[in-house]
Amino acid sequence: ALKTSERKYRLLHESMIDGFVSVDMSGNFQDCNEIYRNMLGYSESELAQLTYKDITPEKWHTVETNIVENQIIKRGYSDIYEKEYIRKDGTVFPVELHTVLLRDENGTPAGMWAITRDITERKYAERMIESANIELQTALLREQQLARTDPLTGVHNRRHLYEVAEHELQVASRYEQTLSVMMYDIDHFKKVNDTFGHKAGDQILKLVTNTACAELRSADVIGRYGGEEFIIILPMTNTQQAVQLAERIRVNVAALNLTTPKGVAAVTLSIGIVEFRHATLEETIENIFRRADEAMYAAKQAGRNRSEIR
Ligand code: GH3
Ligand code: MG
Ligand code: MG
Repeated sequence: ALKTSERKYRLLHESMIDGFVSVDMSGNFQDCNEIYRNMLGYSESELAQLTYKDITPEKWHTVETNIVENQIIKRGYSDIYEKEYIRKDGTVFPVELHTVLLRDENGTPAGMWAITRDITERKYAERMIESANIELQTALLREQQLARTDPLTGVHNRRHLYEVAEHELQVASRYEQTLSVMMYDIDHFKKVNDTFGHKAGDQILKLVTNTACAELRSADVIGRYGGEEFIIILPMTNTQQAVQLAERIRVNVAALNLTTPKGVAAVTLSIGIVEFRHATLEETIENIFRRADEAMYAAKQAGRNRSEIR
């Protein structure tokens, strides 16, 4: 009966697809299957001279001792856990283990049996998935950024401008804060394009945008509303403060010169400024933008290169 039992035991552990190892309570190797030996590159007699600590990198010793004491000895088995082994040739590889406790006839812990699996490929696949995920996230962020940005000037495009404006309006409403909206349009820009060419026109659009952005605080929002019409949302700013800002932008833009093959181009801005009325419940983004447009139109009517409040 003992021989039959021994044969079954041999057959069982030689037919397993995972490594099998048995150690005594000091960690000395007692028995293992071929998969385990091949995984490590040691012969059975070589392993007999070692303990499992000898083939485990230092950094896992405390972790594993904890598992032995708090799981295996306490309740008879471990959770499935991961660690590393050192092969005979010195290379280190990741493994997954499940360990059970053997007791002698008196119930005293007598050794441990571990099923071990080389998880090199799984770890590699996990790392590949992780880096693919990071790449995907980065690409997604870039796409989202592009979808919100005006390609020529780099400021918010019209769609995103509306989204951000909506949010700013809600914040201003909730906290009953003052908010001003400024709209500017380049004066006689058609003529600039006609005189200096569309490319120079594009350059001027960029220059004007940079000039405006240089005056803004981080909380301010700028977006391209139309061709050469831009909107700036100024949270916690009243019209008096907004006019000062508008005037700085207007003066700085008027001082710009762009040298083109067809001569030096210069432009001016007409600026409309309005204040958000949070007392008026029906105040909407469309309303505010329309009022800012009217103020800007008034600046055009009044002779251009100026700011108007409405
Ligand atoms: P006004 O003083 O009344 O504003 O006169 P304007 O000529 O500027 O008139 P309007 O604002 O209607 O004209 C806008 C012009 O801006 C028309 C278009 O050719 C030009 N434009 C719009 N978008 C772009 C752009 O991306 N690049 C260039 N180069 N020109 C643009
Ligand atoms: Mg214009
Ligand atoms: Mg225009």
